[in-house]
Amino acid sequence: MSAVFESHHGWVVDIVADGIDLIGWRAMCSCGRWYGQPWQRSALPDGHVPAERRLHCPGGHLDPALTRLVLEEWECHHFEMQALMPVRLAFQDSESARQRLVEAVRFVRSTGASWESIGQVIGTESAEVAEQRFGVGPWRDTVSQLEW
Ligand SMILES: [Zn+2]
Repeated sequence: MSAVFESHHGWVVDIVADGIDLIGWRAMCSCGRWYGQPWQRSALPDGHVPAERRLHCPGGHLDPALTRLVLEEWECHHFEMQALMPVRLAFQDSESARQRLVEAVRFVRSTGASWESIGQVIGTESAEVAEQRFGVGPWRDTVSQLEW
């Protein structure tokens, strides 16, 4: 799946010790690159101190209000990812443009264009600069290796 269309869905997972004891919870995101800080399960009602990330939940299953509390961190992550979408799209556009530029240079070089001519059209007025950018060593296969 393209990173542009990557979705972020949050949920709460149990934290279990020794495969048996439920000791807390944390929020997770479907993107796989984010997870929230742990919330500790308190066995006693007076241990319920959300400000200290301790929750009393006798049955082990968080009620909807506590689930929303644990998911608040994930909501910040989700909003941040949404806010960063223009950056992601612009970056992908620039990567695509760089790839098209490399392919165009490869094509015109294969048809006999000089480095001097290429330098003129990319604004360097220098064959050496154009060749250094696109022609040093074997053709570069990845755009990310280009230095701009
Ligand atoms: Zn995410």
